[in-house]
Amino acid sequence: MDVQDTPPQKGTGSDVGPPAAELMEARLSDVGGMTVRRSLPKARRRTVGAWCFVDHFGPLAVEPDGGIDIGPHPHTGLSTVTYLLDGQVLHRDSLGSEQVIRPGQLNLMTAGNGLSHAEEPTGRYRGQLHGVQLWVAQPEQTRHGAPAFEHHEELPRVELPGADATVLVGSFAGATSSARADTALLGVSLDLRPGATEVALEASYEHLLVVLDGVLVLDDQPVEPGRSAYLGPGRDQVLLTAPDGARVLLLGGEPFEERIVMWWNFVGRSREEVAEAGRQWTAADDRFGRVVTSAARIPLPVT
Ligand code: MN
Repeated sequence: MDVQDTPPQKGTGSDVGPPAAELMEARLSDVGGMTVRRSLPKARRRTVGAWCFVDHFGPLAVEPDGGIDIGPHPHTGLSTVTYLLDGQVLHRDSLGSEQVIRPGQLNLMTAGNGLSHAEEPTGRYRGQLHGVQLWVAQPEQTRHGAPAFEHHEELPRVELPGADATVLVGSFAGATSSARADTALLGVSLDLRPGATEVALEASYEHLLVVLDGVLVLDDQPVEPGRSAYLGPGRDQVLLTAPDGARVLLLGGEPFEERIVMWWNFVGRSREEVAEAGRQWTAADDRFGRVVTSAARIPLPVT
């Protein structure tokens, strides 16, 4: 008999459990000639915690001088979090940072009032490129502050009964990342072994599960790369089933109550504010500094 003939009983008996996960389709977007799966922002869900932007790229083959190649561009009011499963990216910013990002490392750049950066191929690497770039909205208390850059070569790792976890940001299963977090935030990379793993969640947080590789089965529904699953506040655990194993990103945080306006590479609080940042970029204002690179500066998009 096929197992599909006997679906697990769901929704019968006790209905006091947490609400079902809300599955969301990523939209495909072009970033520097590379197609990415963008899980956030969505029209109906702008943020999960303070996470406001989730791009998943690859795996794709890096040709000579290929890969991520994005010239200098500005940011305000957000932190960028870059995390690779495979490949290399060269980060350069207007603070003078020059850092090769490698798999398992965390690259965290906080824009505050403003900076600029470039993300380039190392020129040496050949092979696969696979990773995520995430943005975290800064709260009012820090968003006008000085820009900053952190690179974490080593991150806390935790072995769970059915998964290996790497803690990028926040605390998970007794381990705490030393990465900066301006709001209560969680970012964990989970390497799920075949089977099912129960993961404890902070009930005051909302969460987003982003599948990077393999298939995750959640509430009997398959979640593959290009789909994500939103889990609302009030859950203290989630059962992650991956029949053949999977790589999953677990993002979370306290719901971000400030109303943000995202435009191009800026996170602000009004259209006027982000438009002003755009004018300043076009005018090469000192606000965004200078990136030392031969890559061409990215102009403001024409809207
Ligand atoms: Mn950027």
